[in-house]
Amino acid sequence: MQLSDKKYLKRLKDFGMSLITTYKSGNDIVEKNSFETLRTNIVNGIRLEKNYLRGGQSVYKLHNFDPRIKYTFVNASTANKCPNCGADIDHTSGECPYCGTAYNMDYESKSLGAKYHTDLVMNTTTYKTVAWVLSLVTAFIISYIYIKTTGRTFNGWDMTKVLVGTALFGLAFYYVFYYLDSFFILLPIKMYKERINAAQTQFWAQNGNDINKDVFFTNLNYELQKYYFEGDQTRNVLDFDLVDYTTITRDGDIVEIEILVREVYYTGGKVKCRQVSKKIRLKRAKIEHRLENVGGVALRCRNCGTSMDAFAQVCPSCGTRHNYLQEWYMM
Ligand SMILES: [Zn+2]
Ligand SMILES: [Zn+2]
Repeated sequence: MQLSDKKYLKRLKDFGMSLITTYKSGNDIVEKNSFETLRTNIVNGIRLEKNYLRGGQSVYKLHNFDPRIKYTFVNASTANKCPNCGADIDHTSGECPYCGTAYNMDYESKSLGAKYHTDLVMNTTTYKTVAWVLSLVTAFIISYIYIKTTGRTFNGWDMTKVLVGTALFGLAFYYVFYYLDSFFILLPIKMYKERINAAQTQFWAQNGNDINKDVFFTNLNYELQKYYFEGDQTRNVLDFDLVDYTTITRDGDIVEIEILVREVYYTGGKVKCRQVSKKIRLKRAKIEHRLENVGGVALRCRNCGTSMDAFAQVCPSCGTRHNYLQEWYMM
């Protein structure tokens, strides 16, 4: 079975968690929750907040979602084809009967502005660590020079004063550095992002006719869901979000994309999150290696024409390995 959205909801449930996601859809703020099949109509919704709950109590909240990604839920669209795999679907059912996809991802091409990326950087532990080190070192030097130049002697007691000074000033400096540094990193980030955006725009200008961007990102998201919620090595991952993508290159039917993923995971009874960079290669399934949707729930092997079970990967008649109906899949 390949019902990844169900597996995702099951993962949350296994940890005794539920999730309320808030979207901005047009001028409306709409909530979608994981614990009931809320038939909320979300068209081109941007994620604003994810609120993780346990026993009805909020235990973790996430913000800062990529505003370029717009989600349209199957039940809210009038499309009769699954956005992920292209199978015939009854949109009122809310999900694809084959792959379980419940929404479409539209990745808009627009520059996000440096503020978004600065916020992302400022939330990383590396940034915070650097700010702390800078603050403490500066506070130590200032305290040391002050005590050394004002006293006649320098003894153990003075050293204690230096350390107390370091702790007090360090705390104050931390806030100064934290925000001051963000001012200094803003420009380099802006320049770096503009370069990346230009490269991405160029990629889609060259390949946009041949690669359907929405299908590509919906497939990528689906493959990530499979990776996180069906794999064993990612058992403690509760949820993930595509935060950004940096490079994207193509070699024939293989597209390599470097993405920044925010993983929400469970450790020592607590919910935490980390940002990881991942290089992912997606391969386009050859037409004959994709099943053919022939209406309703019927699927057919494109190679030999045998009707087959959508969840069987190998054609019982000719032995062709199929990648369901999906176009792009992770290598
Ligand atoms: Zn589907
Ligand atoms: Zn066959």
